[in-house]
Amino acid sequence: MGAGRFAPSPSGELHLGNLRTAILAWLFARSTQRDFLMRVEDLDRARAGAEETQLADLRAIGLNWDGPTVRQSERAPLYAAAINELRQRNLVFECFCTRRDIAEASSAPHAAPGTYPGTCRDLTESERASKRESRPAALRLRSATGEFTITDLLHGPFTGVVDDFVVLRNDGVPAYNLAVVVDDGVQGIDQVVRGDDLLSSAPRQAYLAQLLGYPAPTYAHVPLALNAEGKRLAKRDGSVTLVQLAAHGIDATEARAMMLASLGLPVESLEAALSAFDPALLPTDPWVFTTDPGSGRGMRTTPENR
Ligand code: GLU
Repeated sequence: MGAGRFAPSPSGELHLGNLRTAILAWLFARSTQRDFLMRVEDLDRARAGAEETQLADLRAIGLNWDGPTVRQSERAPLYAAAINELRQRNLVFECFCTRRDIAEASSAPHAAPGTYPGTCRDLTESERASKRESRPAALRLRSATGEFTITDLLHGPFTGVVDDFVVLRNDGVPAYNLAVVVDDGVQGIDQVVRGDDLLSSAPRQAYLAQLLGYPAPTYAHVPLALNAEGKRLAKRDGSVTLVQLAAHGIDATEARAMMLASLGLPVESLEAALSAFDPALLPTDPWVFTTDPGSGRGMRTTPENR
């Protein structure tokens, strides 16, 4: 039996878009007889108290998960071991570039925008020694490919850039792409359901997973929630967190019903939604969530949203 997961970053309260992704991750896992694991991604962006609030909100909408909640901040030895292995296999190199160096180099003609241009890949040992004196190094993967293809349940085959991405930041913190791959691998997670803003990261992660000997998970990158202007939903949009909704007299069960309705699923319980869940019928467009100021009950979502 494999496992699915939800992996929130405790940077603030979850909003309806995040909670809807969590519901989807739960539905994907439970409908395929997988465990469902909770992992708090608190290597950075952690705000005091946010983890407790997020987990309480996930419970309030009826989600349950298996085993203890895992925190990335408590797993440093696992990341260090993976980085060590990459080091020993000569699969990483020290990089001294600033963001600005990279932006300038990658805006050169013929460079793929946003892609690491390889500046520090082939420095000599004496060049590295002198650069170390002015700036701590990040570690980048010595990638042997420029792209990698993953298969996504919603997007089909997806080919994306795999450059020499950072695996250890120059402040000593493991990079998100490294931590997520190590965690999914070590935790036996074989199903990754998350927002489709991360689709473009999946090829890098799947490539690294392969290097570290982990099987590629099944991916489902699900549509995000947008506000009335078509921008990614955010807390400042108002009436989008459970606390904000409660102030309008909308409790967690009613909020869950709104999210399930947006997925075209029965709204009366998670179990009813689970029985009806069929990934092939999921909406592939973003969920446009508009709120009527003043009257919480005037909230509309796009009809059917299929
Ligand atoms: N922690 C990431 C986020 O909250 C999700 C990472 C993942 O699901 O792989 O955006």
